[in-house]
Amino acid sequence: MRIAVLKEAAPGEARVALVPDVVQRLTKSGHQISIQAGAGLAAGSTDADYEKAGARVHGSRAEALTGAELWARVRRPSGAELGEAPEGICIVSMLGVEPAETLVPALAARKLSFLGLERVPRITRAQSMDVLSSQATVAGYKAVLLGAAELGKLLPMLTTAAGTLAPAKVLVLGAGVAGLQAIATARRLGAVVAGFDVRPAAAEQVLSLGATFVGPEVSADAEAEGGYARAQTAEEQAATRAALAAAIPQQDLLICTAQVPGRKAPVLVDAAALATLRPGSVVVDLAAETGGNAEGTRAGERVVLGGVVLLGPVQLAATVPLHASQMFARNVLALVQHLATKQGALNLDPQDEITKPMLVTLNGQVPGGSSR
Ligand code: NAD
Repeated sequence: MRIAVLKEAAPGEARVALVPDVVQRLTKSGHQISIQAGAGLAAGSTDADYEKAGARVHGSRAEALTGAELWARVRRPSGAELGEAPEGICIVSMLGVEPAETLVPALAARKLSFLGLERVPRITRAQSMDVLSSQATVAGYKAVLLGAAELGKLLPMLTTAAGTLAPAKVLVLGAGVAGLQAIATARRLGAVVAGFDVRPAAAEQVLSLGATFVGPEVSADAEAEGGYARAQTAEEQAATRAALAAAIPQQDLLICTAQVPGRKAPVLVDAAALATLRPGSVVVDLAAETGGNAEGTRAGERVVLGGVVLLGPVQLAATVPLHASQMFARNVLALVQHLATKQGALNLDPQDEITKPMLVTLNGQVPGGSSR
């Protein structure tokens, strides 16, 4: 299979879809890799590293794409980028928060196939291809560092000649992949950490990381298909907010990670709860792009409300590009291995358990539907 990787064009995007270590594995299995010069620099990989791994490095985007069958990307392509794609190739990429359907006319025009990486099914066999998990791991870690840097306090307890400092208190809302990593990171930095989620399995995981669990009784049916949370009923939402209202005033740092796939993020910290935080407290809201868990969060912005700092970072994993790309590339490798026939050819089977949910288009057509 001939695979192309270009420099990501989205502003602030420093990740790259394949790293040299993964390129080496692919070339060893007989695949041919074309890289645009400079594609990996922001993630710490030079053109020489890629060449040593067996890739061919090309000076222009068009050259890197010539003859490619698969274009591996991190971020959703723009209309202009789709126009660069050779007719009939397959694009593997994240879709982002915009609906996938809006890409279809441009994909149909060039008979492109498109696999949306966020649509990897949450089954054990596909776990190694799950970019949502790998990138959420990075984001959860970095969220705590952002919060710690913004806070006017140290996180650990310190006993010094100048007196004893009490540890900071951190509450993590949503204990999925990002939340559990945030809990572990805040614990490593010495904070007193609590976690909250609506899924019963999450409660056990929070406790196993040495944090306490806050919130109302979790209901046994709060987990939907694929391990995600379902949306809460109005009564459940009220109970959640009441329980959190009791816990929030003591906190220094809130890390918000609660999401429900395909929906607006649940509001867990409303204006009244925010007003109970002491001035100087910090909220890092990883759900900002889908509306935020805290009222007043704005995606990509730093907002100060009553002395409380609200950070709404987007694409946080892109700020740790080396490790985020390493994990992303491993996910792409696992997917390529799944898509390749024994002879190494690309096989997009619209009936396959993993490929089927990921396919936005197959040769420009929406599988089982029309192309527009
Ligand atoms: P996510 O990003 O969709 O949501 C983050 C967390 O927010 C989840 O834990 C969710 O329960 C929680 N949440 C949603 N609504 C909430 C509310 N009102 N109040 C509090 N919390 C709320 O989910 P995620 O982190 O990607 O993963 C969720 C689960 O899926 C995890 O348990 C993870 O281990 C599992 N998972 C399974 C696979 C697999 O089997 N292949 C892969 C990845 C993740």
